[in-house]
Amino acid sequence: PEPKTSSYLDSLNDVQRQAVTTIDGPVLVVAGPGSGKTRVLTFRIAHIIEQGTAPWEILALTFTNKAAREMKGRIEEVVGKRASYIWAGTFHSLFARILRVEAQHIGYPSNFTIYDTDDTKSLLNSIIREFNLDPKVYGANAIKNRISSAKSSLITPKLYEKNEELLAQDKLANMPLVYKIYTAYVARCKKAGAMDFDDLLFRLFELMQNVPEVVQKYREKFKYVLVDEFQDTNTLQYAIIKKLVQYPDSPRNICVVGDDAQSIYAFRGATIQNILDFEQDFGQFGIQTFKLEQNYRSTENIVNTANAVISYNKRQIQKSIWSDKGVGDKIRVIKAVDDNEEGRRVADTILEQKNRYHLQNNDVAILYRTNSQSRIFEEYLRRFNIAYRVYGGQSFYQRKEVKDLIAYLRMVVNPNDEEAFRRSINHPKRGIGGTSVAKVTTLARQQNLTLFEALKHVDLPKRTRHAADGYIHVIEQAMAKADTANAYELADLIAKGSGLTDMLRNDKSIEGMGRLENHEALLDGIKSFVEDDTVIDTDTLPDKSLATYLQNIALLTDADESDSTNTDVVTLMSVHAAKGLEYKSIFVVGLEEKLFPSWMSMDSMEGLDEERRLFYVAITRAELYLTLSYANTRYRYGKMVMNEPSRFLAEVPADAVENTTGGGRRSNDFEFDKVARQREHRARVTGVTPNKRRGTARFAAPKVDPATFEPSPITEVETGRRVLHLKFGEGKVLHVDGGADNRIATIHFSDLPQPEKRIMLKFAKLQVL
Ligand code: ATP
Ligand code: MG
Repeated sequence: PEPKTSSYLDSLNDVQRQAVTTIDGPVLVVAGPGSGKTRVLTFRIAHIIEQGTAPWEILALTFTNKAAREMKGRIEEVVGKRASYIWAGTFHSLFARILRVEAQHIGYPSNFTIYDTDDTKSLLNSIIREFNLDPKVYGANAIKNRISSAKSSLITPKLYEKNEELLAQDKLANMPLVYKIYTAYVARCKKAGAMDFDDLLFRLFELMQNVPEVVQKYREKFKYVLVDEFQDTNTLQYAIIKKLVQYPDSPRNICVVGDDAQSIYAFRGATIQNILDFEQDFGQFGIQTFKLEQNYRSTENIVNTANAVISYNKRQIQKSIWSDKGVGDKIRVIKAVDDNEEGRRVADTILEQKNRYHLQNNDVAILYRTNSQSRIFEEYLRRFNIAYRVYGGQSFYQRKEVKDLIAYLRMVVNPNDEEAFRRSINHPKRGIGGTSVAKVTTLARQQNLTLFEALKHVDLPKRTRHAADGYIHVIEQAMAKADTANAYELADLIAKGSGLTDMLRNDKSIEGMGRLENHEALLDGIKSFVEDDTVIDTDTLPDKSLATYLQNIALLTDADESDSTNTDVVTLMSVHAAKGLEYKSIFVVGLEEKLFPSWMSMDSMEGLDEERRLFYVAITRAELYLTLSYANTRYRYGKMVMNEPSRFLAEVPADAVENTTGGGRRSNDFEFDKVARQREHRARVTGVTPNKRRGTARFAAPKVDPATFEPSPITEVETGRRVLHLKFGEGKVLHVDGGADNRIATIHFSDLPQPEKRIMLKFAKLQVL
């Protein structure tokens, strides 16, 4: 048959097109920023599907879940709705999905809990205490890192115990018993039915190693494997990929794309050695390598600057990158006397650019080395009335009151979860203090019970027993309903039954009100999870269970956080989180010695090289305008410090930089109401403005007046029918598909920027007109 020449192939240059259409055998693309690596990967998947492979036979690993969603969206434009069946996501989220199915093979329940960093530290601290070790010597953080890197190198507790080198390091650090803590930690996680982030990789590897049927199943399932940002994968991730595609008679249909110069996760064990190894590992199987050299993102000034900067790093794969987008604007440097002035002048420049170049807020991003730098920019953006959103930092789901409620929810899904137990047992206070918990713990250890089981049997004074029974009742009552009730119904039951809502309502302080708002925002979030009737991922679609909700939020990455609504806001994020993204105008701020490069990386060549790659990533996010800023003095850790300008500024070619003469102070500063500021701050973090519940939100207001809206549950609707949807307004049914129990209507809502939505009738709030 005639090869299908679709328009997506026309939007690629020759080398890109070759990389897209070479779908069989191993393919490596090493190329600079903005050269279309992600675009190649995306179209390649579309091409594979067009050539007849089923979407669910494709495994695509991306750096954030958001990147995966965007990728699917673009593929959908080529292949249609079936794009939702592609297995695309982060390593952690896709591996968690496999582990849920296969958990029983490794002695885990399929409803296993995912421990976050706090849970891990809390568990380590209790082990350290139980072993009577000095927590000042045995720091939970340091031990967590030791364990994490052991797991990433596939070193089990048994192997650790025999590893002379690791033992010697521990002795040197005055912590000779790390191996014992590690052993206990692994046993306790298992007992609790919990996996930490490293386990999601480690356990999957173990599973593939030890259970041939399982690895066989996924080898057969995934006909094509693709990895974006390959330079930032760690050894274990690569080992799992190899398990999937490296075996006798394998077609080795694997494609990885990356840029060694953008490797910025060495501190987490990522290694560009993977790129070199890939060439080795697949060399004899006809590997095809493509080099993309044209940068489609940035102007010449920006590309030349990036090239000049990265040339200070000696060890890198040679690449030449050029742009034909014209010279473009020169790079601006803002020299500020202090951090306040830096904040003000950045905000000022944003306003100016918006006017002069007609930029939208979401054309602009401010990138910093550490999350704590966001505060000053937030302050001035607010003053200048520029809408913004901060990614990362103390995220909504890390807030105490949010985690408190989540702890109860985790108990309902997995009552063996010991960290959730510790967090919830005496919060709100019900008189089960440290002594009682110690009793429970002792009994649990003696009889090999989980804490929750032990609580039922432990001998307690009458009052405490009564309180304990109350706690047990709340959890078990919700557990009994877990099969029939949805996530929101359970969460609501728990919030009230546990006394958490009442406790927060009774606190009338400003902070207390903020906590209550967060608590309710979480419930709102669960409600919208349950009620969301649009189809994004058909595989996980009908599942509105609490377990699924908890897994979703446990695996959010920094860049995922925030709703996907296309609100017009300036983005504030760390350089790490900005990987792969692009904006018309980029501000790289805080360019001072010890800040960027970070003081933590300044005493080694490797450290400095990594900081420079980070700077390289930062500047290559810019399409048209690049502004660099620094302050001579700033407050850090409560002290005023003087800073030298970053060495990276000196590496920027002088002829690319605009000549400026100071900014001059402005006099539009004013003191503003502290309460209003706090309220606004909360609103930003929760995504819920105080007004939201009254209907004037920065989220689009419902298109339909809820008061007169009368939805009826429907299981069927004919093509061509006009319907009313609470959120999307009036629409027309294009077609209906899906099984008897999962009918999905594709509806065209003419008021929406993306008018076509897939609506799950089972959950739909529709009124047939
Ligand atoms: P990074 O290393 O930063 O992740 P990348 O190599 O993945 O960059 P992409 O994000 O895929 O680069 O592409 C950069 C920009 O250039 C995107 O806006 C993309 O749509 C555009 N682009 C890439 N190739 C072409 C092309 N052949 N024609 C037009 N635009 C292109
Ligand atoms: Mg990319």
